[in-house]
Amino acid sequence: MSATRTAVDYEAVIGLEVHVQLATKTKIFCGCPTSFGAPPNTNVCPVCLGLPGALPVLNKPAVEMAVQAALALGCQVRPSSIFARKNYFYPDLPKGYQISQYDKPVAEHGVVEIEVNGVTKRIGVTRVHMEDDAGKSIHEGFKDSPLNTYVDLNRCGTPLIEIVSEPDMRTSDEAYAYLTELKQILEFCGVSTCDMEKGHLRCDANVSVRPRGQEKFGTKAEVKNLNSFRFLKMALDYEIERQIGVIEEGGKVVQETRLYNPNTGETASMRSKEHAHDYRYFPEPDLLPLKISDKWLSEIKAAMPELPAARRTRFIEQYGLRDYDAQVLTSTRELSDYFERAAKASADPKLAANWVMGDLMGELKADGKEITDSPIPAENLGELVTLIAKGELSGKLAKAIFPKMLATGDAASAIMEREGLKQISDTGALGAILDEVIAANPKQVEQYKSGKTTVMGFFVGQVMKASKGQANPALVNQMLKDKLG
Ligand code: ADP
Ligand code: ZN
Ligand code: MG
Repeated sequence: MSATRTAVDYEAVIGLEVHVQLATKTKIFCGCPTSFGAPPNTNVCPVCLGLPGALPVLNKPAVEMAVQAALALGCQVRPSSIFARKNYFYPDLPKGYQISQYDKPVAEHGVVEIEVNGVTKRIGVTRVHMEDDAGKSIHEGFKDSPLNTYVDLNRCGTPLIEIVSEPDMRTSDEAYAYLTELKQILEFCGVSTCDMEKGHLRCDANVSVRPRGQEKFGTKAEVKNLNSFRFLKMALDYEIERQIGVIEEGGKVVQETRLYNPNTGETASMRSKEHAHDYRYFPEPDLLPLKISDKWLSEIKAAMPELPAARRTRFIEQYGLRDYDAQVLTSTRELSDYFERAAKASADPKLAANWVMGDLMGELKADGKEITDSPIPAENLGELVTLIAKGELSGKLAKAIFPKMLATGDAASAIMEREGLKQISDTGALGAILDEVIAANPKQVEQYKSGKTTVMGFFVGQVMKASKGQANPALVNQMLKDKLG
């Protein structure tokens, strides 16, 4: 962008505003279902349609999920928070205002720990507040020649939390890591599916630049329409370069909202940023303050699931996993649950970890499947590992049985039984095979006796061949040594 750059070294400052759809069955202020994909305007009632006189009633599970999320992000939960009307007009917002929270949000002062290039950094969470979602406008035709716009109000009143970060990030990689960590924490809590494709996790990025070393922040722009992690990073990289270009050319960055266009990889001005007071926030007169007693708070705390960081540490301590393996195996709650079930059903958790991360994930990935689609139940993978650990199954046989487990979902023991694949550890049966092999190879016996012990490998190979790979290799080695003297 700027071929003639001055020698100024710039630094970016980034803060994210993330909207998360809570996984409640019903809406935040009425009993309508939140289900996705229903025929347009069927999941609606006077409350979420904003009809005059209809009164909102706060959904208790929505509050509990918001509080769980806030606690998971290390926030302090307010004993009393206030809902406020944020007034603006939009065709898919029939009330003419959003019910949100303003100066007294449900929670504040949290922190999310991220790691970028091996360096740990703490990103502040300014606030978590609750609000309702608007409906959807569906445009038919092209932007410059629209045919029709349809309004679907099914999404009106869907419960959201907005998580606002401090301007603590300095690179697009840090923003990427923050959003990744945030998504992982919320998924583990079960408060949201965080499905970006369905709009359950929406991110706006605020970004400014300043000469490195300068304390005062530069003027920020807000970038919207970042519906994937990749777009977040690409939009930030573009926007940082653009702002540096503006300053280098002697211009000023203006405070505005910009839209990211994934087709061009560029951001473009959407509107100059309206100031907060334009919304004419005032306390929602139809809702009482939200009171969260110590008792309720401790009940919500007690119901909190284990969070990713705690689970990583526990996997390392309890199952002896390496740091990296624990990281991989806690990347989603489903994967970590699967691993833990397999580990518990196995005689060797570390070996179970290897099979989950290696063979199983490899096969699933090749088939475009998730761990939840695994044809092998975790308990069966655990059993396979136990059979290997106990020496009832050689590594080679295990590799032969694994694809059959994938194809049928059957237990390893059932497949071994059915196909007569059991490892031979019976000394009588093995002795007979050994005697045959020794009798058939007098020359190699001679070599061994004259001190060339490397022919041992040859004998083991012959025995494995004669037993169709079913002989217990450790036992074969031992018995051969004895027999050859
Ligand atoms: P606004 O009043 O425009 O909504 P806020 O102060 O509420 O701005 O901040 C909104 C988001 O922008 C927060 O995530 C915050 O961390 C971030 N932010 C604030 N100032 C800057 C800045 N100068 N550069 C980058 N991000 C910023
Ligand atoms: Zn409704
Ligand atoms: Mg703000």
